[in-house]
Amino acid sequence: MLQLVKNASRHAGNQAIVSDNQTYTYQHLLDASYGVASLLLDQTPDLAENRVAFMVSPGFDYVRVQWGIWRAGGVAVPLCITYPLPSLQYVIDDTDAQIIVAGPEYAELLAPLAAEKGLRFMALADVNGLSFSSQKLPNITPGRRAMILYTSGTTNLPKGVVTTHRTIEAQVSTLVKAWEWSAQDHILCVLPLHHVHGIINVISCALWAGATVEFLPSFSAEAVFDAFLQGKINVFMAVPTIYFKLIAYWEGLPLGQQQAISENLSGFRLMVSGSAALPVSVMEKWKLISGHTLLERYGMTEIGMGISNPYHGERKAGYIGKPLPGVRVRLVDDQNQVVKAEQPGEIQVKGKNVFLEYWQRPEATQKTFTEDGWFKTGDVAVVEKGYYRILGRDSIDIIKSGGYKISALEIEEVLRTHPAVSDCSVVGIPNEEWGELVVAALMVNDPEIDLKVLNQWLRERMPAYKVPRHYKLVDELPRNAMGKVTKNDIKKLF
Ligand code: ATP
Ligand code: MG
Repeated sequence: MLQLVKNASRHAGNQAIVSDNQTYTYQHLLDASYGVASLLLDQTPDLAENRVAFMVSPGFDYVRVQWGIWRAGGVAVPLCITYPLPSLQYVIDDTDAQIIVAGPEYAELLAPLAAEKGLRFMALADVNGLSFSSQKLPNITPGRRAMILYTSGTTNLPKGVVTTHRTIEAQVSTLVKAWEWSAQDHILCVLPLHHVHGIINVISCALWAGATVEFLPSFSAEAVFDAFLQGKINVFMAVPTIYFKLIAYWEGLPLGQQQAISENLSGFRLMVSGSAALPVSVMEKWKLISGHTLLERYGMTEIGMGISNPYHGERKAGYIGKPLPGVRVRLVDDQNQVVKAEQPGEIQVKGKNVFLEYWQRPEATQKTFTEDGWFKTGDVAVVEKGYYRILGRDSIDIIKSGGYKISALEIEEVLRTHPAVSDCSVVGIPNEEWGELVVAALMVNDPEIDLKVLNQWLRERMPAYKVPRHYKLVDELPRNAMGKVTKNDIKKLF
C-alpha cells in the first residue's frame, strides 16, 4: 500500500486529517507514521509479515498506526473498538498477533491480555514521548501480506481475510477513478475502521487522492448534520442503517431546521450507500431531503468493491449497478455454469482486487475458489437491463420453500412500503412439509397493527408462496457492528 505514502509526499502541505478539533497535513502523517514504523522496527527488527493488532479510535492516531505498520512491513490487524474482550481475544489468537498497539482508551483493557499471552505491547500514550532510532524502512514488494480484516460475521464466525499491498492498491485505485476522487474532496468518516467500507472506501481512497478525512468523535445524527452544516464536507459514505437514522432525525426537526439542512446538502459531490441492501424507500426519502441520488454499490471483505452504480449515468434504486473496471463478474447456477440472460445465479468474481486467502484456513480458501480461479461470493443476483440486482445470500436470504427459491430481500422491500412497517427482516425456518417456511420480524410504528390485515395486504402484492406464515413484532432488529441484521438471531425468535 506504499503508493499511498508516495502520493502523500506529493500532497505534503494538504490537509489530510481533521480529528479532535485538530488538523494534520500529509507531512504530519508521513512523519508520525514514520515514527510508529521506526518504533516497531526498534522493538522487532525482523518485523516482516508479523501481525500487529491495533485498537485505536478513528482519527489521526488510527491512520498513523495503520501506515506505520505498513511502512515497517507488518500485517495490520485493526481491532473493532466496540468488541467485548472475548471477541478481541478471538482476533488476536486467530491472527497469531505478535504485537498489540493500543490507543489511550484501550491500554488498560489490552495490556493484561498482552502480558498474559507474552506479546509485545505498545501504548500510544507512551509512544508519543518515546524517541526512536532513525530506522531505514524496508522495501515492501507488492505481493506481501498487508492486512487481515475479519468478515462481519453475519452468517458464521468471522473469517480473517488476507490482502496484500497489491490487492489493496487495486481496490483503492479502481474506486478513486470510478468515483472521481480528487485532492479537493473532504469526506466525513462515521464508519468503523475494521472493515473495508471505512478502511478502503473512505480513508484509503481519500488519502490516496490527497483529499481530507474528517472524523467524528462519536456517531449521532445530530453530530453528522452539524458537521455537514460547516459547509466543507462534500463526500459521504454510510451503511443503510445510518441513512435510516439520519432520515428519522431530520423528520423530527422543525421545518426551519429541515430546510437549512437540505439547502446545505446541495454542495455535496457524492453520497454512497453499501454493506447491505439499500431499501428503495430510504433512497427515495434521502433524495427528497438532500437532493442526492445515493450511489449504491456492492462489496465484500474478500473483494473490496465489485459492482457499483455509475458515478455519471443512471443510479437505479434497488440495483447495485455494473461491475467496476478491472473486476470480472459472472453469475453461475448450481452446476457452476454461467446462467442465461436475466436468470438468477451466484456472483463470482475475478481480478486483482480479490483477496489472497483466509488466514490459516487453507480448506476454506480452497473451497471458496473454483478450479479456474473465480471467487464464489455466496451472494445471488440477477442482471436486468444491464444492472445487477441482489437477491441475497444463498445461505440465508434465499429461502427454499415448497420447491421455490424465494428472495427474502424482495419480500422485505415490499413489506417496507407498508405505512405501519418501519423496518423488517425476513428469514426461512426449517419446516418438515415445506423445507423452509417464510417468516418475518417486524418493527412497526403502529402497535395496534392487525397482522391478518397486513397479511392480506401482502397477498395482494405478491404470490401466496412468498407471503410470510408467521410474524414477530420486535422493538429493534438485532444488528452487528456494521449495522447488518444478524438473521441467525432472527431465526431464533421463531
Ligand atoms: P460473514 O462473511 O462473516 O458472514 P459478511 O458477509 O456480512 O459476514 P462482509 O464481507 O462485511 O461480511 O459483507 C459482505 C456482504 O455484504 C456481501 O457478501 C453481501 O451479502 C452484503 N452486501 C454488501 N453490499 C451490499 C449491497 N449493496 N446490497 C446487498 N448486500 C450487500
Ligand atoms: Mg461474507
